[in-house]
Amino acid sequence: MTETNNNDVLISTQIVIEEALRKLGYGDDMIELLKEPIRILTVRIPVRMDDGKTRVFVGYRAQHNDAVGPTKGGVRFHPGVNLDEVKALSIWMTLKCGIADLPYGGGKGGIICDPRQMSFYELERLSRGYVRAISQLVGPAKDIPAPDVMTNSQIMAWMMDEYSRIREFDSPGFITGKPIVLGGSLGRESATARGVALMIDEALKMKNIPLASARVVIQGFGNAGSYLAKFMHEAGAKVIAISDVNGALYNENGLDIEYLLDRRDSFGTVTNLFKNTISNDELLTLDCDILVPAAIENQITIDNADRIRAKIVVEAANGPTTLEATRILTDRGILLVPDVLASSGGVIVSYFEWVQNNQGYYWSEEEVDTKLKDMMVRGFKQVYELHTTRKVNMRLAAYMVGVRKVAEASRLRGWV
Ligand code: GLU
Repeated sequence: MTETNNNDVLISTQIVIEEALRKLGYGDDMIELLKEPIRILTVRIPVRMDDGKTRVFVGYRAQHNDAVGPTKGGVRFHPGVNLDEVKALSIWMTLKCGIADLPYGGGKGGIICDPRQMSFYELERLSRGYVRAISQLVGPAKDIPAPDVMTNSQIMAWMMDEYSRIREFDSPGFITGKPIVLGGSLGRESATARGVALMIDEALKMKNIPLASARVVIQGFGNAGSYLAKFMHEAGAKVIAISDVNGALYNENGLDIEYLLDRRDSFGTVTNLFKNTISNDELLTLDCDILVPAAIENQITIDNADRIRAKIVVEAANGPTTLEATRILTDRGILLVPDVLASSGGVIVSYFEWVQNNQGYYWSEEEVDTKLKDMMVRGFKQVYELHTTRKVNMRLAAYMVGVRKVAEASRLRGWV
């Protein structure tokens, strides 16, 4: 794998996309098509703040490729959102949909904002303003948004309502991750963590470690991190450390997960309630069986990859490990389950939600869970097999599986 020595998520993604396509036998034209989104919209959203003044927020929506079907992917609200990140995230969505064999291409959106500093009604006005700004580009058969970092089912509800008003008909299939009463799917809220837990099961089997004796470290206590802590705790594994934006908590005998879940706020903040915290770097390098980065990009890098002591790294966040760190972990025999596979539970159940909306017929949670398991385990097997037969690292294997369908669909449509 080419060395880049930088943490630019778009450049790193393009390097692996190119490598995957070349290994699959595609040439420069296909690489040129798939290394960038086909469509990107930048919008400026004026929002009346509670103090009566107007603030203008910048937002994006990127559609990577729609050869397979409508594009699909979340919208993040975060001060660090930028165009290159949104582009990379849209490419990762294509790969997730490709591995799971969903009839979608990848899309992604983001708004530069800090929801922690905004009131409930300011967030509502921002969410509605974003939908008005992108409404020409999106729709149930065009591009289907969903939750991502610091967006939730309430925000999806406002967005769905705004879109339905603009179109003048009820459009539940416009967006996924909605509240259940507005057409959301059972099991969607915890789906990313469910998927990560399934991938942990598969990875543990490869390493012959029983779940009941596994020690788990989770970076991030947002939607994915907190549900995962709950599932791991319920399954009898020992969650020895968790973290949030302020710090990390560690107890070698296992943390009191029920207490932490009870005390976390809606953004997943909880460590500020404790005195004995450890740093983020200490958390990542703890001795454990499974390390789950479930926060943001570029956490495992050339600076700490040598010191990671986990046997398995399962990426619940998008892009937490850089390319150089991927190589270091792989060389050190650490089993890495990459983001585009490990964190695809969310979009898989989003797909189920969209199917249910289109049919107007709703499934039981058991049905959702069974179908999710089938898809994710099949994805793991395909990626793991390619990793062993083609002797490529798990990330490259996942990219190869993920990009196959979109490349083939683009070729068959005569685009390349
Ligand atoms: N934001 C999630 C992701 O990055 C889910 C996207 C979706 O459900 O469409 O995979």
